[in-house]
Amino acid sequence: MKIMAINAGSSSLKFQLLQMPSEDVITSGVFERIGLDDAVFTIKFNDQKQELKQPIKNHGVAVDLLLEGLIKLNIIKSLEDIKGVGHRIVQGGEIFKEAAIIDDKVVADIESLIPLAPLHNAAHVIGIRAFRKALPNVLQLAIFDTTFHQTMEEDAFLYATPYEWYTKYGIRKYGFHGTSHQYVSQVANKMLNNENAKLIVCHIGNGVSITAIDAGKSVDTSMGLTPLEGVPMGTRTGNIDPSMLSLIQEREGKSLQELLNILNKESGYLGVSGVSNDSRDIAKAAEEGNRRAQLAMILQAKRIADYIGSYYIRLRGLDAIVFTAGIGENSGEVRKMIIDYVKVLGVELDDKLNNTRGVTGNIATKNSKVKVFVIPTDEEVMLAREVYNKLKEVKKYES
Ligand code: ADP
Repeated sequence: MKIMAINAGSSSLKFQLLQMPSEDVITSGVFERIGLDDAVFTIKFNDQKQELKQPIKNHGVAVDLLLEGLIKLNIIKSLEDIKGVGHRIVQGGEIFKEAAIIDDKVVADIESLIPLAPLHNAAHVIGIRAFRKALPNVLQLAIFDTTFHQTMEEDAFLYATPYEWYTKYGIRKYGFHGTSHQYVSQVANKMLNNENAKLIVCHIGNGVSITAIDAGKSVDTSMGLTPLEGVPMGTRTGNIDPSMLSLIQEREGKSLQELLNILNKESGYLGVSGVSNDSRDIAKAAEEGNRRAQLAMILQAKRIADYIGSYYIRLRGLDAIVFTAGIGENSGEVRKMIIDYVKVLGVELDDKLNNTRGVTGNIATKNSKVKVFVIPTDEEVMLAREVYNKLKEVKKYES
């Protein structure tokens, strides 16, 4: 059966249609710049790529274009071929401990969490509404980035702020990238042939989060109330002393909202280097001797190493460090910088393997006390699996 995985952003909509249970990708693509006159619809299928530039007024129009396109390009015969849709939702708060079949109540609950993820959840709701309208009789499932981290205990998720902030407003650490952490940790456990493995997963892409996983459960993670906490990222600061905000506010006369925007969009790699938010540009500039680009990489690697050290203690041991996402999967240089900081744990990289393009699997030496895995993440497959399993469950329940 065919299942659609959807990731809706404020001006974008990523999609992947998968054949289940084989998990083959039938087609994938993205709508960008939704709401503008020069929106772009890119779709890949059968090793071809088509790009269409045209005004796309809103997400509803994008969804209609997508479904029409699938039929026109003979990818599906009719809309009935799509048996389920999985929507990636960034913030599930404490409401959603597992994926939820979307109905009016679930949409209202996702909307109620908008204060905890203003950009993301608002966009997801728009995406959900568009799909429910276009495919009213198809099972739609909401799958949350935060669910995987709901196993964290209070000592990991509470901030030492006034306790009422938690009880009244839900101020706590939620963690993100849960679908990715869950997917790669399942693969790692299989590779180790150990369901109870102790893992530290380093998801290093534009966004970065580090998670401690014990026996398949998240016990701590670096992102917090929002994805801003933790490690310096492409454009985010990671942890800072919030006192600096009042100082800059005073000196530069900026509002809190403007400052938060700078912490989210103009910091990290971009802010420190002044070069780019893209790791390839930074690595190139660093190699050419640009000190600020070198510093951008060093600050990130050092902070990731800090988390690995702290999670090693939390887990009371470690079977594997897992690298995933754009940088984690592709940059041997970044992996080496991080592992160099944590050598004291008995981790030893096989330099040749680490520098092999497209390498996956274990890249530690035979003598290394801890394995180092490179595992490509696949959030879409996780979404499709959840929908597929839910469909089977619903069928069983109905029959
Ligand atoms: P996100 O999903 O958070 O937007 P990705 O996981 O796609 O991010 O990661 C994007 C990052 O991965 C960019 O900084 C990009 O430079 C980096 N990246 C992608 N391919 C490579 C590569 N071959 N070598 C080094 N870095 C890479």
